[in-house]
Amino acid sequence: MVYEVPFVDPGKNYKMIKDEIDTAYQEVMTRGDLIMRDQLKAFEENLARFVGTKYAVGLNSGYDALHISMLAAGIGPGDEVIVPAHTFVATASAVVNAGGTPVLVDVGKDYNIDVEKIEEAITPRTKAILPVHLNGRVCEMETIMSLAEEHDLVVIEDACQSLGATFNGRRAGTFGLTGCWSFYPFKILGGYGDNGAITTDDPEVAKYARLLRYNGEDKETGAYYHHGFTCLMDNLQAAFLDVKLRHLPEWIERRRAIAERYRDGLNRVGDLTLPHFSDPRFEDVYQNYVVRTSQRDELVKYLEKNSVEILIHWPKPYYQYEGLGLSDRGFPETEAISKEVLSLPMNVELSDEQVEYVIKRIQEFFGSSRLR
Ligand SMILES: *Cc1c(COP(=O)(O)O)cnc(C)c1O
Repeated sequence: MVYEVPFVDPGKNYKMIKDEIDTAYQEVMTRGDLIMRDQLKAFEENLARFVGTKYAVGLNSGYDALHISMLAAGIGPGDEVIVPAHTFVATASAVVNAGGTPVLVDVGKDYNIDVEKIEEAITPRTKAILPVHLNGRVCEMETIMSLAEEHDLVVIEDACQSLGATFNGRRAGTFGLTGCWSFYPFKILGGYGDNGAITTDDPEVAKYARLLRYNGEDKETGAYYHHGFTCLMDNLQAAFLDVKLRHLPEWIERRRAIAERYRDGLNRVGDLTLPHFSDPRFEDVYQNYVVRTSQRDELVKYLEKNSVEILIHWPKPYYQYEGLGLSDRGFPETEAISKEVLSLPMNVELSDEQVEYVIKRIQEFFGSSRLR
């Protein structure tokens, strides 16, 4: 199905930067630079500079970044890690696959972990907090970092959705031991396939991640130091991501402009709640533009019928899937979110006309009368 307003439009995005991408492709291919070459090093340096950390290590996915970070933090059997109840499943899977136990905490009105509820989840076995900066908004890191200090916990940031977002002027990924990044195609910085990275200021963690991503092998000496994985970022993908990273500042501004347009058009329409949370400490990048309404399912149907592609993140909380073996202590906000949220198209390929089209259809759905 071809949508009037698709959720994302990777083909259009490619055409916006075609010359640069094609040049990068030809350079990599004609030189045969496939594994761990200059393009990967350059991207890692540029990513670290953008985030504001000393090191970046390119990986195969955001999941790998989380998993390796768990191992770097020493998480293993018997260790508890605090994670939000409302996140992508990979956050919890990384803890489980490292041998640890995720302890879930409900989220607040801004969809991020409710910092008021963290302390009651801390036990003598708690080793780490894994806050997720969801939808392009950093968690309230002041409280999280002071709780971590007080209880001697490691902080690993799942920053997969928040490249460029800030809290108190500091970028996502600069607070914890590591920042974990995903360059899955539809992330704010997306490759042409799965990609990810760890950023850190700790040289030992950076070194450990470099070993683990390539079978535990030190590439200089050929010696093996760990039972590792095969989860290196491909050199070709690094070259593409480096091109896109140059556009990121302007693309973040574009996302913010689209968010403002949605805000102007949808403010006080029906019972919609918009993702603008007035608190000057936060500067969001709008990975997702999530709105909330009691008529979610009807609105989604109406928009799909009118050729607007909508996604729901997520229609069922991950901990309710039996196969994951997680305990459900009851998370009222996460459950309410699963019934009430929808994500509107939000990407740099959108034209102003397309954004206006979405706004018009939503106004129509709610009977156009603004409840001012
Ligand atoms: C995308 C995402 C991940 C996983 O990233 P992949 O690259 O798909 O493995 C983890 N956590 C969050 C919050 C994400 O949005």
